Amino acid sequence: MYNSRRIISVFFLALLLPVVVPLTFDAGPTPDTLLIINAQLADGTGAPLVNGALRIHGNRIVSIGKLSPAPGDRVIDARGLVLAPGFIDTHNHSLEGLDSDPLAETQVAQGITTAIQGPDGESPWPIKDWIEARKQHPTALNLAVFAGHATIRGKVMGKDFKRVATPAEIETMAQLTWQAMNEGAIGLSSGLEYEVGSYSNTAELIAMARSAAEHGGIYSTHIRDEADKAFDALLEEIQIAEEAHIPVDHSHIKLGTVSVWGKAPEYIRVIEEARSRGVDFLADCYPYEAWHSNIKVIVPDKQYENPRSVRKALADLGGADHLTVTEFKPNASYAGHSLAEIAKANRVSPVEMYMRIIREGDASGMEAQVIGHSMVESDIKAFYQQPWVMVASDGGIGAAHPRGAGTFPRVLGRFVREKHWLTLTEAIRKMTALPAQRLGWKDLGILREGAYADLVLFDPATVIDRATFRKPQELPLGIEKVFVNGVLVWNDAKPTGATPGRVLTR
Ligand SMILES: [Zn+2]
Repeated sequence: MYNSRRIISVFFLALLLPVVVPLTFDAGPTPDTLLIINAQLADGTGAPLVNGALRIHGNRIVSIGKLSPAPGDRVIDARGLVLAPGFIDTHNHSLEGLDSDPLAETQVAQGITTAIQGPDGESPWPIKDWIEARKQHPTALNLAVFAGHATIRGKVMGKDFKRVATPAEIETMAQLTWQAMNEGAIGLSSGLEYEVGSYSNTAELIAMARSAAEHGGIYSTHIRDEADKAFDALLEEIQIAEEAHIPVDHSHIKLGTVSVWGKAPEYIRVIEEARSRGVDFLADCYPYEAWHSNIKVIVPDKQYENPRSVRKALADLGGADHLTVTEFKPNASYAGHSLAEIAKANRVSPVEMYMRIIREGDASGMEAQVIGHSMVESDIKAFYQQPWVMVASDGGIGAAHPRGAGTFPRVLGRFVREKHWLTLTEAIRKMTALPAQRLGWKDLGILREGAYADLVLFDPATVIDRATFRKPQELPLGIEKVFVNGVLVWNDAKPTGATPGRVLTR
């Protein structure tokens, strides 16, 4: 993505400037040069912190090291602060939020500078229209987009999706994947626990993933089961990666039911084996013991009104007090309460209450959104300590889960500073160079001369998340300044109003 023609035109523009406008111009830096001094530089690769300075010109980093201010430099003294590449969130749900909040306050406040849209199998369509619209209405964030498996499946099968696709339909889906890649998608995403995606077979996914791979795309997948059958689902994912020859990003790696709690070491062993065979496998993980989704995902056999299936589902979560309704349009009074509490208030069993919420939801066409407190810390810790695990939020603008406003500062504050699960520079690598490498972006996620000036300046002694399940939009502390393409987007604990984000493609 290094565009030398642009650099040259900027150079000539700089030569013309003094003629056009009355600026003083010496041989030194031009007025849009910014020097950040006395920073602890975390370059994104995981290398130790180095004290130094960094100079930005236009949208690029132009020099790094022992630099002193030159005439015309704007200078920021970053004493006590860490300067890192901007965080890249490979799993971000802000498609709708960006329209109402192009400054993306909860995202840039965390240090996110690039947010990948269209995960979990659902994307805008056509991809080229979305990209064009986003270019017309830029935001504070750099954006990129996956082509959604379920979105494409829905285009091909319409309402008749509750079955395996025919070979001809699969061929059409693969062609549409190809089209989306040509239009600028960065890969294929799937959400195989969700309604439309769940009816696909492995052959369909391989065909579409192969189509994405032929165009340099990756495969981001919310696998078929993150609970009792998490191991089967993982093996299917590895098979897709191997047969389609596609790099994988396993979305929000987790073990979400009682029967698989504590099995992270075995899960990791299966992945390590695949990696040693040459499967290009990375995962991302959000730093919470609770997930957020619709109420149906907990019943894998889809027997939502079968008391036996529902009883097992609730037991697998660890009980009805582990499921909290966050939003339910047909009966707003449920929101903020656990299933156990709602059942008690209605004087029915949790199983009966679950089935009632399903019926009320189906009648209105609106499913309840829920949070399930069903992961254990030891598994999250084990995943975070793997070098192939990235940090991603699975959140976004307006998220009902605190991960939407807390993910990146939470890892830095709690997992690095308080619990010592990983070093600061390794955590930063998981937020920057590793996702950039996954996406094939050489000039992002790294502090290097010539790289894009997407930067985060934060205080390692105070950085912390403050979003909670009751107040999911609460902004973090300790993120001092954020730059996107050389432009300050977050300063003095608020957005600056600038929208320098680009749309990134392969
Ligand atoms: Zn997901």
